[in-house]
Amino acid sequence: MNMKSITVKWNGKEYEIEVDEAVMTVKDFKDAIEKQTCVKPHRQKLLNLKLKGKTPDDDAKMGAINLRPGTKIMMMGSLEASVEEAQRIPDDLPPVINDLDIEEEEVAIENRSEYLQKVEKRVKEYEVKILNEMRPGKKLLVLDIDYTLFDHRSTAETGAELMRPFLHEFLTSAYKNYDIVIWSATSMKWIEEKMKLLGVSTHPDYRIAFYLDSLAMITIETQKYGVIEVKPLGVIWGKYEHYKQENTIMFDDLRRNFLMNPQNGLKIRAFRQAHQNRATDRELLRLASYLEDIAQVSDISALNHSKWEQYRKGGYY
Ligand code: MG
Repeated sequence: MNMKSITVKWNGKEYEIEVDEAVMTVKDFKDAIEKQTCVKPHRQKLLNLKLKGKTPDDDAKMGAINLRPGTKIMMMGSLEASVEEAQRIPDDLPPVINDLDIEEEEVAIENRSEYLQKVEKRVKEYEVKILNEMRPGKKLLVLDIDYTLFDHRSTAETGAELMRPFLHEFLTSAYKNYDIVIWSATSMKWIEEKMKLLGVSTHPDYRIAFYLDSLAMITIETQKYGVIEVKPLGVIWGKYEHYKQENTIMFDDLRRNFLMNPQNGLKIRAFRQAHQNRATDRELLRLASYLEDIAQVSDISALNHSKWEQYRKGGYY
């Protein structure tokens, strides 16, 4: 017997789960969580339970995951809406474990419990205004605006002059296989105006599912950048079950924006000095081809997006 005590944090409370690593599978672990929380296994999202960086299958052995004693697993999930279920919550819950944060420094940023708690808070409190129907079965593309789709620093007579070339062709092509979300570190009003100006919000050939603004972001602290705001995809995944790590890709000209989801980010070349670069920038056209190439890959987070240009033999144009 190799028993370990693992803490599961859910809804602001902590639950201690005894894990026998020699025999227990992930499914057994989820069943044990259900016993204490009444959250059904299929409703449990165990954010930082990872096997080689991925969400483990239900039949994976807990021993293979090799959790350190004292690890805190962050869970998102909801109860089945039934009184009967609710009555099964045991009243002899184990005591809350004192959190000494001893190991926090060694935990990768995307797994740190204080950040996952912030994500959980956004999932609960951030209100998404759905613009167009989501299409479960499609993958998800999350796009930055500034320097990704638009040069917001140059001056021009019209928005069109500062729009990245092939923007509409790109969005039309991506829309075939991906739901599209725009996420900008600015205010919602600004995003709405910009999307209107660029003709994105009214385009007949594609529809944006929704916009996220700076209020959906979280603050983290890193050695490299100091205190910064990032765009954690867990906010979207926590709100909508059909979007998950495996089917999501995010484009941004700042790598730090996807520090909470390094496997899902593709750092796009910044589009600056629109007047000089408008004639030659083909980045969106090339990326449209990449998105099409990987659309049938079941887990796109397993790809190395920093090498996207080598994905197609012969390259992209
Ligand atoms: Mg940007």
